[in-house]
Amino acid sequence: MTVTSLHLWINGQRTLSQGSRMADVFNPASGEVIRRVPLASRRDIDAAVMAARAAFPAWRETTPLRRARILTRFCELMEQHRDELARLASEEHGKTVLDAVGSVQRGIEVIEFACGVPHLLKGEHAEDVGRGVDCHSMLQPVGVCAGITPFNFPAMVPLWMFPVAIACGNTFVLKPSEKVPSCSLRMAELFKDAGLPDGVFNVVPGDKEAVEALLEHPDVGAISFVGSTPVARHIYETAARNGKRVQALGGAKNHAVVMPDADMAFTADALVGAAYGSAGERCMAISTVVAVGEAGDRLLPLLRERAAQIRVGRGDTADVGMGPVISQAHRERIVDLIGSGVDQGAELVLDGRGIDVAGGERGFFIGPTLFDRVSPDMDIYREEIFGPVLIVLRADSFDAAVHLINANPYGNGTAIFTGSGHWARRFENEIEVGMVGVNVPIPVPMAFFSFGGWKASLFGDLHMHGMEGVVFYTRTKVVTRRWPAPAERTDSSLAMPTLG
Ligand code: NAD
Repeated sequence: MTVTSLHLWINGQRTLSQGSRMADVFNPASGEVIRRVPLASRRDIDAAVMAARAAFPAWRETTPLRRARILTRFCELMEQHRDELARLASEEHGKTVLDAVGSVQRGIEVIEFACGVPHLLKGEHAEDVGRGVDCHSMLQPVGVCAGITPFNFPAMVPLWMFPVAIACGNTFVLKPSEKVPSCSLRMAELFKDAGLPDGVFNVVPGDKEAVEALLEHPDVGAISFVGSTPVARHIYETAARNGKRVQALGGAKNHAVVMPDADMAFTADALVGAAYGSAGERCMAISTVVAVGEAGDRLLPLLRERAAQIRVGRGDTADVGMGPVISQAHRERIVDLIGSGVDQGAELVLDGRGIDVAGGERGFFIGPTLFDRVSPDMDIYREEIFGPVLIVLRADSFDAAVHLINANPYGNGTAIFTGSGHWARRFENEIEVGMVGVNVPIPVPMAFFSFGGWKASLFGDLHMHGMEGVVFYTRTKVVTRRWPAPAERTDSSLAMPTLG
């Protein structure tokens, strides 16, 4: 098989790196290297930021309506190429093509949201805040914004960021994960085909060196990050220290509470999809079930039966429900964590280690794994596993379940399964988590709401897309104005002016 070399995308064209470092891009299902990608150097980052800075004045002056028209064309092209992007995502990430199609679609919905930017940028106006004085607010772009994205959603997570930023009049430098660079590079080509001026959107695959260069660059005004918690914390602290606005979304440990009055078959179906879809490599995957009272004994056999039936294989094969995980190193980490669960006394109900996948002997496969009777001190509870491992803890009461979740350092997503409005309402109200589902296992907000967690799942104040995305990518200016009549007298006064 020929291994192609990828490129950077700077100023509207494929660009060779000025550095010399390259990384292998794997197909996780075969374990083979399928592409080589340049790792952007500091000089590459400088070139990308310079291109974005040069493009900013004209893009900022392009009216929101004209920007929205280009976004509308981009949206149409994305729909036409949705399956192509999904195949690229599946090939480099390992998830099934069907799953990838869904995630590209969720990303396209952010573009649809961003097409409404003329309305979103309207600001506020008040007449007569004082006699003859009016006041209005303006939402102006920040300038050059940068995005740094993880491996697990090669198209969707970048799409949480750049369409809204660009719609608001900013220019953008995206540093996608070096493990899955192709979707971002392809989207840049499609955006150009839609009429986006050169330099407005730049893509620079890279690693830590590229990230540090973006965090330190004086011409970058805002940083959006999605990835693991330790890196998110570093991004937040460094970008803030360098005077940039920053939103850094981190890792997760998402719990589902199952009450005894839940519909158990419905709940088991929902949990198996949420735990094992995308091999558990979703930041909103349900990785932890908290079964209240007698719910556990009824739920466990149903979970086991369904999980055991999942067909594991290449993501581009029909009827396959779950593909491999991203890398050999990640696979080994998950295997080690499963071993620690056994050693620390959890009950291994289904063991995905050592799974055989015909034709995928060198792939990074691990089968669905299920633990019961896990306790909060075990590593499989304390660590984000980010693999196809579902753990079940037992709780005596609703209050104990809520207490457990609120004590967890993460706060990305959670769900409750119940037939009772009383428990659901209390859960919505009391749980310290950013995104909450009621009988909905993966409560990812639609594009016109905002996505983001609490606690160690978010560093910063504003979530992504929806109105919070618009607020993040704009600076508010408030104008107070008076047009005195030519003959009108104003006395000079040194006292604090009051208008009312
Ligand atoms: P990661 O933190 O390893 O990498 C994310 C990005 O940061 C990549 O672009 C990577 O190149 C870069 N990076 C990695 N190490 C770095 C370092 N030391 N310094 C600077 N940059 C660095 O995350 P990942 O493994 O690609 O993705 C999985 C993680 O992302 C999981 O923890 C998952 O929960 C999280 N995630 C969170 C959300 C969310 O919305 N909260 C969404 C998707 C993924």
